[in-house]
Amino acid sequence: MNTEKAYAYYLDQQDDLKNFRNEFYIPDKTIYFDGNSLGLLSKRAEQAVEAILSSWKRYAIDGWSEGAHPWYYFSEKLGALSAPLVGANPEEVIVTGSTTTNLHQLVASFYKPQGKKTKILADELNFPSDIYALKSQLQLKGYDSSHLIQVQSQDGNTLDTQSIIEAMTDEVALIVLPGVLYRSGQILDMKVLTKEAHKRGILIGFDLCHSIGSIPHYLSDWGVDFAFWCNYKHLNGGPGSVAGLYVNKKHFGKEPGLAGWFSSDKEKQFDMEHTLTPADNSGAYQIGTPHLLSAAPLLGALELFQEAGIKQIREKSLHLTNYLMELLEAELSGYGFTIANPIDDETRGGHVFLEHKEAARICKALKVDSVVPDFRTPNGIRLAPVALYNTFEEVWQTVKILKVIMDEERYKEFENKRGVIA
Ligand SMILES: *Cc1c(COP(=O)(O)O)cnc(C)c1O
Repeated sequence: MNTEKAYAYYLDQQDDLKNFRNEFYIPDKTIYFDGNSLGLLSKRAEQAVEAILSSWKRYAIDGWSEGAHPWYYFSEKLGALSAPLVGANPEEVIVTGSTTTNLHQLVASFYKPQGKKTKILADELNFPSDIYALKSQLQLKGYDSSHLIQVQSQDGNTLDTQSIIEAMTDEVALIVLPGVLYRSGQILDMKVLTKEAHKRGILIGFDLCHSIGSIPHYLSDWGVDFAFWCNYKHLNGGPGSVAGLYVNKKHFGKEPGLAGWFSSDKEKQFDMEHTLTPADNSGAYQIGTPHLLSAAPLLGALELFQEAGIKQIREKSLHLTNYLMELLEAELSGYGFTIANPIDDETRGGHVFLEHKEAARICKALKVDSVVPDFRTPNGIRLAPVALYNTFEEVWQTVKILKVIMDEERYKEFENKRGVIA
C-alpha cells in the first residue's frame, strides 16, 4: 500500500472521469463525501431548471406542448433517460412522485393477497420509510404488522441471500428489498433473489435509492417486477427531486392501484372521461400533474451519467472506496474503527461504512475540519467518495484529517449525540 500523497495525485491524473468534477459546484474548501444523501448541484442541472423556468416565462400554458421540453411528456422523457441506469426499456421507467409514494403506488398495484399467500417479505435493515409504507399498506388490506416478515441480519449490517430465500415461504405474496443497504452499502443479489422469488410464484421489487447512479443494474434481464428510487442521492437531482419507478413490461396494461388522471393514456387524458384508460407502459403509475420544477434538474444531471457511463462510474467508485479502505487500514488501525461494509467488489456499494463508538462526535469534528460525512445512529459513519466529483486526493486528505482528530482527541470537544438531521 502506497500511503504517499504523490500516489493520490498520480491516481487522479490517471482518472478518465476527472474532468466531470468541473461540471459541479463543489462547496468552497470542502471535501464532500455525502453524495449518497444529497448529490451536488451540477451546472447542467442548473441550466435545465433555467430552461423549464424560461419555458414557463415564454409559453405560459402552452409550455405543456411547446418548447424544447414540452411538460406533458417530460416525465416520460426523464424516464427514458434514466432507463440505462437500471437496465430497462425506456417505456418501463417513469420519473414521478417520491420514493415513498412510489412504493405505496407499487404495493397498492402488485400486492394481491390470495388464499394462503397474504404476507409481505422485507428485511430488518431497510430504511424506516419503506417499512412504514409496507405496514400501512397491510393495514389498508385489513392485516396487522404480523403479516410483514422481516428477514433478520446475522451481523446487524448485512443480509444473507440464503436466509432471504428461506423466508420465501408459500405464505408470501410480495417481496420488497433494497438493492443496496443504506447503512452498510451491501449490494443484494437482485438477479438470484428475483429468480428464486419467481420460482415460488412471488412478485419482487427493489428500492434502488442507494444503488441507482452508483452501480449498474439489469432489471429487465433479471425479470424484476418493479423498482423505485429517489433521484436526489447519487443522481444529483436536487433536494426533494422527483423520484423514479420501473415496472416490467410484462405487467403493462393493468390498472394502477392508485389511479389519477396522469395514469391515463396520453392521447385519451384530455377526453375527460370518468373511466380511466391507463397508459400501456410505466406511465400508468403516475397519479397527478408532475412537479416540473423539481423534475427539471434531472434533465441536466442525467446527461452527465450518459456521458460518463455507469460502468466507468462504477469502476472509479470501486477504486475510490478500495483506496479509502486501504488507507484506513494503513493509518487508522488500532483506533477503534471497524470497516462494516462488505469488502469485496461484488457486494460493496458506493460508500464506506465505518463503525466507532464515538461516531456522532467524530462526524462533528470532521465537519468542523471541512469534511462532510454522514452519521447513522447509533455508531455509523458513512463516507461516500463519488466518482463524478470526488478525487483520490480528497480521500487521502480525509484519512489524514481523521487521524489528526483521533490523535488529538479533537472529537471530545463535541457531544456524542446526533443532530436533528443526521
Ligand atoms: C433515501 C431513502 C428513502 C427516502 O424516501 P423519500 O420518499 O424520498 O423521502 C427511502 N428509502 C430508502 C432506502 C432510502 O435510502
